[in-house]
Amino acid sequence: MGLFDVGAEGAREPLLNNLKSLGIKASDIEFVIFSHLHFDHFINIELFPNATVYTTNEELDYALSDEPEQHGDFNYIKSSLYYYKNRFTLLYPQDQVYDGKIVALPGHTKGSIGFESEGCIFTGDALKYATEAKNKSTTYAYYNKQMADSSIRAIVARNKIIIPGHDPVFKLENDNIAYLNDASVEVYKKKDSCVSIFLKEV
Ligand SMILES: [Zn+2]
Repeated sequence: MGLFDVGAEGAREPLLNNLKSLGIKASDIEFVIFSHLHFDHFINIELFPNATVYTTNEELDYALSDEPEQHGDFNYIKSSLYYYKNRFTLLYPQDQVYDGKIVALPGHTKGSIGFESEGCIFTGDALKYATEAKNKSTTYAYYNKQMADSSIRAIVARNKIIIPGHDPVFKLENDNIAYLNDASVEVYKKKDSCVSIFLKEV
């Protein structure tokens, strides 16, 4: 059982409550895959001491470099990332993790990834809001807008249930957004893996 992203401080309580309602203890979480290392997707990692933590080399290098500052991006907390640096297991696009596959979705950050399994795709901030899928365009990209837009088009082309970074689970039906529920913070359960979704902007 694992998570895709773990959210910001404000999502901590609802995340733990949601896991509890699914009968999952924080200590049961075996892996956490990070879509990217912005703090609002990363900072609750301390709740999951037994988890193998996955990121990509590209994202970790980028997050720890001076480059994000040049892009005006202060969403990485480097002290935490240095603290966890040796705990990361590195992933590569196309890698299989449990019942899903890693998909490269660069643009929001340099090393953003998604997690694709049978009927759905977890996108992190490569696709933050359902409207971005409808418009085939990002509202904002920290690293590269063109790359972010093409990642969004790649997500939409898969025609799956989409679990975005900051919006409820939805599907595009004839270019219309169909939300599958309206929870503000939820855990979307999928076989052996599950994902936390964080709507609270910080
Ligand atoms: Zn982000």
